[in-house]
Amino acid sequence: MWCNPGTCHNSSNTIVDRGAGRLRTALRVRLLQHTYRPEELVAAAARLCYSSSGIDEIMEGLGAENAAGFITMLTEVGHESPVEHVSFTFGIEGVSRSLLAQITRHRIASYSVKSQRWVREGQFEYIIPPEIDAIPEAREIFLEAMREDQKRYDALADLLYTRHLEVLKEKGKPESEARREARTRAIEDARYVLPNACETKMVVTMNARSLYNFFRLRCCNRAQWEIRQLADEMLKLVRQVAPNLFKKAGPSCYVLGKCPEGKMTCGKSKEVQEKYRELQ
Ligand SMILES: Cc1cc2nc3c(=O)[nH]c(=O)nc-3n(C[C@H](O)[C@H](O)[C@H](O)COP(=O)(O)OP(=O)(O)OC[C@H]3O[C@@H](n4cnc5c(N)ncnc54)[C@H](O)[C@@H]3O)c2cc1C
Repeated sequence: MWCNPGTCHNSSNTIVDRGAGRLRTALRVRLLQHTYRPEELVAAAARLCYSSSGIDEIMEGLGAENAAGFITMLTEVGHESPVEHVSFTFGIEGVSRSLLAQITRHRIASYSVKSQRWVREGQFEYIIPPEIDAIPEAREIFLEAMREDQKRYDALADLLYTRHLEVLKEKGKPESEARREARTRAIEDARYVLPNACETKMVVTMNARSLYNFFRLRCCNRAQWEIRQLADEMLKLVRQVAPNLFKKAGPSCYVLGKCPEGKMTCGKSKEVQEKYRELQ
């Protein structure tokens, strides 16, 4: 699809605090693009499975209303493969490298992530966990760590750059090429001291079936607050463009009608189910 800048769906906020050397950022998610008429395409795939229609007829007469009927039928019989035909691409920023490690565990997806090898963190931005932010003493320790990390990163990047430049020039590399290579080699090693809190940006594409799995696991109270917040924003966005496909999507307790987590349950499944019935 067709989500041009004027029609793309946005969620959440932008940078919340850039004052006095504090570069705290907040989640921002945008649905950049999705399969054209996703619900009708899923319905067409279902129609091919369950009727005598050939490919010339399966899209005929399909509109939002009868698509909803096919989707309900697929949900009731647990036939999930037709929803793999539609995919959704999100632009995500204001998330930590910790979140990156978690989201990329979802293998049925495609990712493009801001590179710390090629982009120097002139003044890196960071995500501060709300529970650290809420305690002034903890926040001060955290902010001090961010300032120290930045100093060490800058010092290492500068030292490595100088050393690499010397060696490359000694080897006879032309000045501009030597500078470019020295810069890249310096920042790709200096980044090892950057923290998990460091902000990153990514483009993520998942098909609807993979999103169902993602929402089941990551909207759940057992998931960490940051990826749960992201999953909620993604769910709100896809519900706007494909309400029938995603009205039953959410954490396991909402999908199944009861919590499957046994002893690990948060004990709040009624409250959680209510939240995801209402979420928009
Ligand atoms: C609360 C929580 C805590 C977690 N804690 C940890 C932890 O402590 N340590 C840790 O390492 N991870 C942890 N994880 C990550 C978790 O183990 C999964 O790696 C992650 O949630 C991705 O889920 P997935 O494999 O279902 O997704 P995807 O990779 O998108 O896979 C989707 C589905 O495809 C199928 N599939 C994909 N690949 C294979 C395969 N190779 N073989 C067979 N079937 C496959 C499976 O059915 C799978 O559910 C945690 C996740 C959550 C939600």
